[in-house]
Amino acid sequence: MSDHNDLVARTLSGETSSERVEGRLDEGRVAQWVAQAREAIAAAATSEQWRAAKAAHTGEGSPLAQANRTIGELAAAQRKAAGQLIGAARAQVNDLLAKRRELIEAAELTHRLAAEAVDVTLPVGGDPVGALHPITDMIYRMCDVFTAMGWEVVETPEAEAEWLNFDALNFTPDHPARFMTDTLFLDPPGAHRLLRTHTSPGQMRTLLTRDLPVYVVVPGRTYRADEFDATHLPVFNQLEGLAVDVGLGLADLAGTLDHLAKAMFGADVATRLRPHYFPFTEPSAEVDVRCFVCHGASVDDPERPCRTCRSEGWIEWGGCGVVNPRVLASAGIDTDVYSGFAFGMGIDRTVMFADNAADLRDFVEGDVRFARGGVR
Ligand SMILES: [Zn+2]
Repeated sequence: MSDHNDLVARTLSGETSSERVEGRLDEGRVAQWVAQAREAIAAAATSEQWRAAKAAHTGEGSPLAQANRTIGELAAAQRKAAGQLIGAARAQVNDLLAKRRELIEAAELTHRLAAEAVDVTLPVGGDPVGALHPITDMIYRMCDVFTAMGWEVVETPEAEAEWLNFDALNFTPDHPARFMTDTLFLDPPGAHRLLRTHTSPGQMRTLLTRDLPVYVVVPGRTYRADEFDATHLPVFNQLEGLAVDVGLGLADLAGTLDHLAKAMFGADVATRLRPHYFPFTEPSAEVDVRCFVCHGASVDDPERPCRTCRSEGWIEWGGCGVVNPRVLASAGIDTDVYSGFAFGMGIDRTVMFADNAADLRDFVEGDVRFARGGVR
């Protein structure tokens, strides 16, 4: 029989209010409520179930709360005992609730920790690993070849004095390279400053600041007022080389470039020097490398043309020569004692040849896929 029906039955039987309340506060009945609460609390497995049990057995509508509210209706003599009885029962239920809550929270924490646990043995995926830009990587590779021979790597400014870029290198005042159409001059116009058109100013800076002998390479960016297309960029990279010592000549130059070419393109690659003209070297030459795709076979074989060398058998790689004594004299060097050689390679071109990059624009457009498929 429910408490309500029980109450109705007692009321109908003529019990007084005080007797009714007394009946409700019967010890056995209170113990039964506590037992019911204990059972419900023990059955609560989650915080949600725990809250439901708490509401049912300690909330406003719970038998204990209802009974507590009726204490005031009791005869004065019975209130104390009733108050103690209900108070002890409520304390017991609250104690059961508190203990159960600790268990549930501990279990839920354990469960959450297990669910959110990171397995450090799982392979890491997603975050791509960085890499050097192919140009930077090639600069390192080329410089490594020279440092292994005892040369120094020197960096000089990209914003350069016109005198160091042209005059000191024996360019005449009316040389076409100085025209605004080729060279990017810096403001103000009368300051004779420009973005270096080659790394060759590094030659003069080295000669003016170092004791002889010098063996240096100067890598870095150079600028020209050029088109922006698959084979031209207004900014590109060069590796300048300069050696000045007693008794250096063309054979030393040829041997050095041949060594560099083999290090870059493979031991079976041949080089040749083809006469040319540069104001700052005399004699001057362009250095070609044997085409490493067709090895020259395409020259006499129209059936099998070679795109890499355009069926010429050789690929133009850079310029070089024996340092013009006028350049050495500009730096105050005794040309009766010292001589030297110099060269300049396009680093971008070297990457194109070594790694079959088809379009120079890829070097500056920042598409990671290009760098990812790059040199290493
Ligand atoms: Zn070829």
